[in-house]
Amino acid sequence: MGYAAHPERYSRIDYRRCGNSGLVLPAISLGLWHNFGHVDLRSNFEPILYTAFDLGIIHFDLANNYGPPPGSAESNFGAILKDGFVRYRDEMIISTKAGFNMWEGPYGEWGSKKYLVASLDQSLKRMGLDYVDIFYHHRPDPNTDLEESMSTLDLVIRQGKALYAGISNYPPDQAQKAFDILKRLGTPCVIHQPKYSMLERTPENGLLNTLQTNNVGCIAFSPLAQGLLTDKYLKGIPEQSRAARNPSLKPEQITPVLIKKITQLNELAASRGQKLSEMAISWLLRDQRITSVLIGASKVAHVHDAYNAHTRIDFSPEELNSIDAILHAG
Ligand code: NDP
Repeated sequence: MGYAAHPERYSRIDYRRCGNSGLVLPAISLGLWHNFGHVDLRSNFEPILYTAFDLGIIHFDLANNYGPPPGSAESNFGAILKDGFVRYRDEMIISTKAGFNMWEGPYGEWGSKKYLVASLDQSLKRMGLDYVDIFYHHRPDPNTDLEESMSTLDLVIRQGKALYAGISNYPPDQAQKAFDILKRLGTPCVIHQPKYSMLERTPENGLLNTLQTNNVGCIAFSPLAQGLLTDKYLKGIPEQSRAARNPSLKPEQITPVLIKKITQLNELAASRGQKLSEMAISWLLRDQRITSVLIGASKVAHVHDAYNAHTRIDFSPEELNSIDAILHAG
């Protein structure tokens, strides 16, 4: 028998709205950056997707280059859409992005109209979809006029290839310019995807306020700083961990100073009756400006931990102060 989604899935998690738009996301979303490529086993990643969906995590985040090899996360996700997920496409929010390096030459990355249109067409083909729900410009392009990149988002939405426009990795001033252009074009930006975690606080320096002022949703990526905000690295680097397997997290980032902070955060989480992986996600969700926390997972258990986090988003002022004190200590 094929996959049948849990009948209670929509009462299991909270949903938050992006501004006043129709885009409503689960408090936790699942990203397919790592662990869903052709180098990975379907027998491992398929249950992760089903577990998420059963918990009401109906938003799956992809990008043209996710794999490895680039594109293979979209192909694998497309295969599961045709299989176990076949009845559920209209319940899902599926996003993809273009901006980073995808193919050779000047039209294989950044923000030209040619690249963005070609990339989205390729993504749709790989996933076997007529449209994605959100199409993001993945990073600002220092050379292409912002007007060109944003009018391409407007174009693909008018063509019906995407429903909502998003941007990612844009600093507040450039985000504001993008919002203004998209508003004028009649396709408002509904969501921004920044890197945000206890270890990456940059969005607090203006971005979160800019998003609030413009009524734009915020989905925070790498909430566990790729796994650093867990107990995983407290006794060295496990063989199967991202730091051991993937150049996106380098062993030299795991310094004694960082381990000291993580140890203290881990103790604080325990005093709240949580794992650190849970507390790090709860900490993000306590702020109502965060629409969704975008997790990664190499195991089904990781999805459960993130899910548990959404039930404990209360923090006392003392707990918040202790977290800041640990993070700011030398
Ligand atoms: P996280 O910070 O949540 O890191 C996920 C990794 O942490 C897992 O793969 C696993 O790594 C480890 N982990 C997760 N849960 C636990 C747990 N409970 N206990 C121990 N270890 C755990 O997010 P990602 O960095 O994976 O990013 C999430 C998503 O954000 C991506 O898939 C993508 O969709 C998006 N993203 C967007 C970017 C952008 O530029 N817009 C850039 C990067 C990500 P391990 O392999 O060690 O088990």
